[in-house]
Amino acid sequence: MSQTETTINRLDVIAVGPHPDDLEITCGGTLALLVKQGYKVGILDLTTGEPTPRGSLEIRARESEAARQVLGVPFRCNVGLPNRELMDSPANRYILATWFRRLTPTIVICTAGRTPAASPDHHQGHLLVEAARFYSQLTKWDDRFEGTVPYRVPHLLYAPFPFEAEVRQWHGSFVVDVTSTFEQKMEAIRCYSSQFDESRIAKVRHFVSGNNISMGGRCGFAYGEFFALPTVIGTSEPFTLVMGGKATAAPVSLPGQPAPPLE
Ligand SMILES: [Zn+2]
Repeated sequence: MSQTETTINRLDVIAVGPHPDDLEITCGGTLALLVKQGYKVGILDLTTGEPTPRGSLEIRARESEAARQVLGVPFRCNVGLPNRELMDSPANRYILATWFRRLTPTIVICTAGRTPAASPDHHQGHLLVEAARFYSQLTKWDDRFEGTVPYRVPHLLYAPFPFEAEVRQWHGSFVVDVTSTFEQKMEAIRCYSSQFDESRIAKVRHFVSGNNISMGGRCGFAYGEFFALPTVIGTSEPFTLVMGGKATAAPVSLPGQPAPPLE
């Protein structure tokens, strides 16, 4: 567990992923950005990620703590559910929902999607977070949540895995401009040297960069991270919402009106 665990009792955002490094890869730039913007951000790793061929519990704990520091996230804790056998079960829902009831986040971010070429924990983690979010608000069951009081998580955000099996039509989606934190994200991923040796980290950088460049380019950003929602996006300020993007990465340059540079 992170030593910062006892010092924080309420979070604006909790990001939940099955293994240490999943969140860095899917949404590390956004987590670092939210910290810079002054939000209280936390990370819950559902499992230790062990066993793996070159890791150990001690090594993985050191790596995830180093990544936490790189991202500037003040809170990170390991939920302690079993790696490789992670399941969306009632018992695990109680455990995760108890964390939500204690930390009362406004937004929960969860990694999302089914990855047949990678760990089945990814799909189960997605299901588990959705179920735990629902369980968190249930009344007359406090004994199943260590005596904590019901809490309704207002917003759920998906951070989809780039290589998921399904092509989904999400109700809402958006891209966060992570140009200012992209290198921070890559440095956090590099902390996991037991998982990504020199040759593998080069490939990870290649594919993560390509994905973030592609996503960012759709909104005119140099690097972007994609998010989805289970609902459409509501706003009372449509102008601000639309102007959040820069429309296109390569705008037409009119005579006398040079296009703004790609940031
Ligand atoms: Zn993973």
